[in-house]
Amino acid sequence: MFQLKEQIAVVTGGAKGIGKGIVNALLAQEAKVIVLDKDVEAGEALARELPIDFLNLDVTKAEQVSQVFSRIIEAYGRIDILASNVGIFPQKTLENMSEDDWDAIFSVNLKGTFLVVQEALKHMKKQTYGRVVLTSSITGPVTGFPGWSHYGATKAGQLGFMRSIALEYAKFGITVNAVQPGNILTEGLIEQGEDYLKQMKATIPTHTLGEPIDIGAAVAFLASPEARFITGQTLIIDGGQILPESFDAIL
Ligand code: NAP
Repeated sequence: MFQLKEQIAVVTGGAKGIGKGIVNALLAQEAKVIVLDKDVEAGEALARELPIDFLNLDVTKAEQVSQVFSRIIEAYGRIDILASNVGIFPQKTLENMSEDDWDAIFSVNLKGTFLVVQEALKHMKKQTYGRVVLTSSITGPVTGFPGWSHYGATKAGQLGFMRSIALEYAKFGITVNAVQPGNILTEGLIEQGEDYLKQMKATIPTHTLGEPIDIGAAVAFLASPEARFITGQTLIIDGGQILPESFDAIL
């Protein structure tokens, strides 16, 4: 239905997990994809596996972000799509949470989103075209989970950030949207442990965890020229996890 031929797409945190799913979906629509990630080993391995370019980036470092985006503009001339996907989700209950725990997650999930999106929008505004898609979560904006109060605050914060910049850039042919994944089987999710995965599967009406490509497909649509009249919106992709009013409602 739509294709992204010759579009320049940047995916942060694209070396693995949901980011890799986004990369695969964008490649399937024939976009040129540049992956930015701090995991150099995984990024370089991905560049051997798929026709992408990989650049090392820590999204919390403003100067690095600016340099990497300048390199992308020098090499490709433009940025049509930004999937701002980096996020971390360490668990800490509130009573055990230190100021450093709080600052670390806000630095990656919110400051990192701000730095990367601001840089991409600078170039998109000149082009009077752009598609920004943030990876938020159901956790925070819709649901809660013990140990993720700081994480949930960052994921809800991303949506607040998105809504105002969607307004600031709407007249420049730029849309800013978000996806809210439920439980998607990634390296990061596996780290939560077998009990967590089992518990999640039981609370998802499809009785399956999502796969990275499930998020990638939604991002590719929101990143397409055809999605031009959708901005400041979010799409929940969770196998119906937020729907049941009780366990009995899951058949
Ligand atoms: P993942 O498997 O941990 O992959 C994330 C990638 O981002 C890793 O390669 C990681 O590198 C990299 N990264 C971390 N911090 C970075 C930084 N400061 N700068 C650059 N790269 C960085 O995570 P995921 O499960 O795919 O999650 C991706 C996004 O989806 C996150 O925003 C997360 O909040 C969101 N999400 C995930 C789920 C889920 O079920 N998986 C659900 C809802 C929302 P290292 O491995 O070296 O840290």
